[in-house]
Amino acid sequence: MAAVSLNNVVKKFGTMSVVHGASLEVADGEFVVFVGPSGCGKSTLLRMIAGLEDISAGEIVIGGRVVNDVEPAERGIAMVFQSYALYPHMTVEQNLSFGLRMNGNDKADTQRRVSRAADILRISELMHRRPRQLSGGQRQRVAIGRAIVRNPQVFLFDEPLSNLDAELRVQMRVEIARLHKELGVTMIYVTHDQTEAMTLADKIVVLRAGNIEQIGRPLDLYDDPNNQFVAGFVGSPR
Ligand code: ADP
Ligand code: MG
Repeated sequence: MAAVSLNNVVKKFGTMSVVHGASLEVADGEFVVFVGPSGCGKSTLLRMIAGLEDISAGEIVIGGRVVNDVEPAERGIAMVFQSYALYPHMTVEQNLSFGLRMNGNDKADTQRRVSRAADILRISELMHRRPRQLSGGQRQRVAIGRAIVRNPQVFLFDEPLSNLDAELRVQMRVEIARLHKELGVTMIYVTHDQTEAMTLADKIVVLRAGNIEQIGRPLDLYDDPNNQFVAGFVGSPR
């Protein structure tokens, strides 16, 4: 069974169609990367999977259940954004535990989940700091930690590294790959960075103006792009 399926998903804003009928299967535990130029619909697709945006037609299935009318919190997913959206007045520990506590999770279980996430992300030493006392990379780790504590089946990342400098970006890319291995969960990751796509993905989905141009493993796309557009995005010489 696929972890996530899109069946002919359409998105319109008013009369303007921005996703024109996207179909895709994401296998359990797979790392899928959406690439494409700015405005091609990457974030919109992700937000529809997350339930932050209604779909205009088609079907989204997560864990075997049609979720078109299911609330974001009930979808078994967690999303990590490019802007970290941490609470500035809370400590790292409070940032990690806040969502769980709000959902009525008991204190002991919350503490277990928070310290596990902190271990995984190697931020245990930072638990009493506030966001302004953290580096960009550390903030990004806390943002990912907030997703981990929810034990999601599927992680969604929307250009999580694009605010970081080049060196940190490489470091965090390695961290995210490690995380995927360690957690063994499904990840859907949006980027316009070719290197991130080629190195992280089990499968790349190339988008262009609301259409899926090609889906394939990185090396297959590189060796056999359908067209010049795909070739350009995966760095193929053809
Ligand atoms: P990407 O993430 O690939 O840069 P987006 O998914 O953000 O692209 O946007 C896809 C298209 O949808 C763009 O043309 C964008 O202007 C449009 N769009 C996105 N959100 C809205 C919205 N809330 N209202 C109207 N148009 C939108
Ligand atoms: Mg976007």
